Amino acid sequence: MAEPLSAVDVIRAKRDRERLSDQQIDWVVDAYTRGVVADEQMAALAMAILLNGMDRAETARWTRAMIDSGDRLDLSAVERPLVDKHSTGGVGDKITLPLAPLVATCGAAVPQLSGRGLGHTGGTLDKLESIPGWRAQLSTSEIIAQLRDVGAVICATTEGLAPADRKLYALRDVTGTVESVPLIASSIMSKKLAEGADALVLDVKAGSGAFMKTVERARELADALVGIGAEHGLRTTAVLTDMSTPLGRAVGNAVEVAESVEVLRGGGPADVVELTVTLAREMLALVGLSDVDPAEVLASGRAYETWCRMIAAQGGDPDAGLPVAAHTHVVEAEADGVLRSLDAYAVGVAAWRLGAGRSRKEDPVQHAAGVLCLAKPGDKVERGQPLLELRAGSADAVPAALAALVGAWTIGDGPLPATPLILDTLH
Ligand code: URA
Repeated sequence: MAEPLSAVDVIRAKRDRERLSDQQIDWVVDAYTRGVVADEQMAALAMAILLNGMDRAETARWTRAMIDSGDRLDLSAVERPLVDKHSTGGVGDKITLPLAPLVATCGAAVPQLSGRGLGHTGGTLDKLESIPGWRAQLSTSEIIAQLRDVGAVICATTEGLAPADRKLYALRDVTGTVESVPLIASSIMSKKLAEGADALVLDVKAGSGAFMKTVERARELADALVGIGAEHGLRTTAVLTDMSTPLGRAVGNAVEVAESVEVLRGGGPADVVELTVTLAREMLALVGLSDVDPAEVLASGRAYETWCRMIAAQGGDPDAGLPVAAHTHVVEAEADGVLRSLDAYAVGVAAWRLGAGRSRKEDPVQHAAGVLCLAKPGDKVERGQPLLELRAGSADAVPAALAALVGAWTIGDGPLPATPLILDTLH
């Protein structure tokens, strides 16, 4: 059957700064998914979009076309209000781990369909796979049963959700077209809308360890994400947060699970607790549960019980020991003073080089590898005091990690100006 439109005409339109019509968008996304529009044509269109943009209505339509390329998860059998969370990714960002059981304990249901890490930011599934027996792959009926029974599920995204995005994201990755706000926003929101939650809270990170390096760019992305949510009738809040220094002390897989468990038991680093509680409050507010105080629930240890049930439901043993690295290397402070900065990107790259992350999506990760930040910006340090602990499978990985850490921190005098973790909230 003849195709109703031509890819070249759609590419020319965007090249010449025209708005794409609904028909053009629906056709080009569908035809690309079917293999009728070739990779080189979609690459040219993605570059034209990167250079010339798409407005709010075009971006919302593009998102709809990507959702329509696959299935939608039907979670209508779950009686509790469904609220989802997405983070644009950062170093030491383990927040989903304590957040999902916390929000479930407060009365909502949290479906967290997650991905694996690539590059310097870790993936939630890689972290949870450090727990012996834990299984990422669940069927739709298992997801629904766990949401009804436990209230929280963190698992691999199902194959059928937004297949157009999977294909397009892989293409953008190799054609220099990842950094387009409409393409990033539609990519994130197509997956989240296909998951079928009632509401969504986005943690949009800004800083060296984030995708968006400046607050301005992060705000632009947050606006686009909230705009798509509004166009699709999804209650959406975006929280802008700082990612110039790692979140918490642990960066890696097993070490981040251990830190999340500390938080669920009522302890853990103050920044991880603050962000977990802030996001929980926003999630609960969106589904009409603002009378529950997540800080109280977290301190009570009840969210830890939900965590144990959530892990056990997916075959994991919450009481089993986590993998331990064969080799550790301590980096010491070179002077007395106050730790004034610790760069998130450098620590993320160091953890990745130690084996915590992967370079190609088929690579395995080493669950015990990572970095512990023994001091955080604002802490007083003395010369010779341990600053960072590097963990790896062997000493061979250490020199490359140390190279990533050259110039990664500063030690100086006087107290640090207070830099907020939560930069803004957009509705
Ligand atoms: N994450 C996504 O899911 N898509 C993008 O385009 C970028 C980050």
